[in-house]
Amino acid sequence: MNPEEKLYRRLPELKKLRELELNKDPLVNFQTLGSVQHKGREYPILSVEIGSQDKSLPSIGLFGGVHGIEKIGSQVILSFLNTFLQQLRWDEDLRTRMETCRIVSIPLVNPIGMAYNTRSNGQGVDLMRNAPVDSEDEKSPLLVSGHRLSNKLPWFRGTPEEKMEIESMLLCEYVREQCFPSTCHISVDFHSGFGLRDRFWYPFAKSREDFPRLAEVIAIKKLLDETFPHHIYKVEPQSKVYTTHGDLWDHLFLQHQEIYGRKHCFMPWTLEMGSWLWLKKNPLQIFNPLGLYNPIKEHRHERIMRRHLLLINFLLRLTRNPKSWVK
Ligand SMILES: [Zn+2]
Repeated sequence: MNPEEKLYRRLPELKKLRELELNKDPLVNFQTLGSVQHKGREYPILSVEIGSQDKSLPSIGLFGGVHGIEKIGSQVILSFLNTFLQQLRWDEDLRTRMETCRIVSIPLVNPIGMAYNTRSNGQGVDLMRNAPVDSEDEKSPLLVSGHRLSNKLPWFRGTPEEKMEIESMLLCEYVREQCFPSTCHISVDFHSGFGLRDRFWYPFAKSREDFPRLAEVIAIKKLLDETFPHHIYKVEPQSKVYTTHGDLWDHLFLQHQEIYGRKHCFMPWTLEMGSWLWLKKNPLQIFNPLGLYNPIKEHRHERIMRRHLLLINFLLRLTRNPKSWVK
């Protein structure tokens, strides 16, 4: 087996991404943003941009695999991208639409974590606790909210003297470059592992104070409820469940606000897919290391691949129709 095949065996998600990369289309652009090294092996971090090259146009961002073990997030994005790229080949109407908007994505932010079935990256750092933002909530749960004790414990933030981890830096640079210039941008970071329901979280993670774009959140929720009365999402601030230090999206939102104020709309959401339901339906999967965060049964996995297509398309349409919700 050659080294590439060995890598793909560990990381079929990367193989899938490389297969999508073979798609040559003037509306699709793949980039290698950088790479991370672990045990003598190199892991690339790839992005894909679909649609116009004009970054000021409305756009959505899809990010997954920040927590390596939550593979389902990357898989949902890859499944969406596969369908979307196939559709672009024959749907002229979609092609015309994509000339005036964009989809940008890093489907697999933490490839080492995914290859080794860990939440953290290769340095033992939890990337979603790695940003230079401290929680303002005195009741932030110890350890889980992020700590600087040791990379042997989960939820390690990294040490303050050090720069952010390569994966976090690449993600932040990418979002600043590709998403910030957009007049209207909605991003979704795909996670899994908490609760029975799929939660659609808006900021903040750092505090229980109101998100400055709360009026827009309320308008989006109303449109979602009215347009899809049977939707499955529980819309709430992440801080309702717990507050954390070092959230990358809090950090990016605050940076965006400093540069653009209310001139551009930048809405970073997190989709926390409720994995307890998969456990409840298939309790034995608790003995599988991936079973706490991913659907194991094939039919359930397939259902999850279809489950969020509606939401992604809805969000893209929202960015193209800001008058209906941007205040
Ligand atoms: Zn996660």
